[in-house]
Amino acid sequence: MDIDKLVVGSNILDEVVKGLDPFRDGKLLVLSDTNTYGACGEIVIERLLDEGFHLKSFVFETGSSILLPDERSLGRALLEIEPDTSFILVVGSGVLNDIARIVSYRTGKRFAVVATAPSMDGYTSVGSSLIVGRTKTTYYSHYPCAIFADTSVMKNAPMIMIQAGYGDVLGKLTALADWNLTRIVNNEYYCDTIAKLVQKGVDKCLASADGLPGRDEQSIRFLIDALILTGLSIGLAGVSRPASGTEHQLAHYWEIKAVEAGEEHALHGNAVGVGTVVTAMLYELVSEMLPENIEFPKADFVRSLLEKVGAFTSPKDLGISRELFVDSMLNAMNMKDKYTVLRFCAQQGKLEEFTDIITRRLYD
Ligand SMILES: [Zn+2]
Repeated sequence: MDIDKLVVGSNILDEVVKGLDPFRDGKLLVLSDTNTYGACGEIVIERLLDEGFHLKSFVFETGSSILLPDERSLGRALLEIEPDTSFILVVGSGVLNDIARIVSYRTGKRFAVVATAPSMDGYTSVGSSLIVGRTKTTYYSHYPCAIFADTSVMKNAPMIMIQAGYGDVLGKLTALADWNLTRIVNNEYYCDTIAKLVQKGVDKCLASADGLPGRDEQSIRFLIDALILTGLSIGLAGVSRPASGTEHQLAHYWEIKAVEAGEEHALHGNAVGVGTVVTAMLYELVSEMLPENIEFPKADFVRSLLEKVGAFTSPKDLGISRELFVDSMLNAMNMKDKYTVLRFCAQQGKLEEFTDIITRRLYD
């Protein structure tokens, strides 16, 4: 894992200048969008210029629309790279990171991140989630060489993004249950140390979640810590198991269907939070048939955790139709070869029956 520098704290933007010192001889391309430029991009650029850095800034004009990680944005980012660009600094969260990560990887340049929202666990990821040919695919790329996460900036992120990050953290509860399930049922690789590490990060975040609606900086700190930690756990384990299970399969399915239909969709973490409720419902229904020692969260517990921060709790809230919901329950497990409780229920001959029960509870 070649992340050289990871700085998390309050008012740490000066660290960006220090951290980028090894790259001061070259020319930086600083990528941001209208929102993240305002959040701290402008300040970061000013400080770099004051320190004599040579840079070019490009701000994606987003207006009221959402920046998409598609061919258009990627092409634009590529055009902004000049022959003498030596390094990319991205100021932003999910989509901007996906764009910067793949563009820097494919052009053989290093990149660093100034995180602006605690919205997902992808800062410490090697994958870029992109829309190519109207479908969502993950492309292998590389780690940023440095990550700067300033809690005094991130606490001012849009509340929906804070809720999303929290949903992505909650998803680890069912991801860990699935990992344990496949360990027992399929003898799949499992690392107790990593599972405990992730659980610890999640617990800390949940314990201070009361402060999130009021943007308490310490609560934001525990949230971003949990997101960074769980992102790193994927690299440590070499598989996505500690961070992603059924709840992610469902969230990805909903997202892919929306992208294919050219429709807007919820932020990743908001969908994952809802997926966690649904997965917990499924675990409760199948609990009698589970092998011993599988711990899973209760659906009411997950729901109450989401309600605490005002996040969505039902697929209905996300605008997912009843038909798509049923479709996702029956087919999300086929998208990737990953064994989860969906497959377990199918093997017990119970998936259709449980899907019917859950659908009625959520939609009637
Ligand atoms: Zn996620």
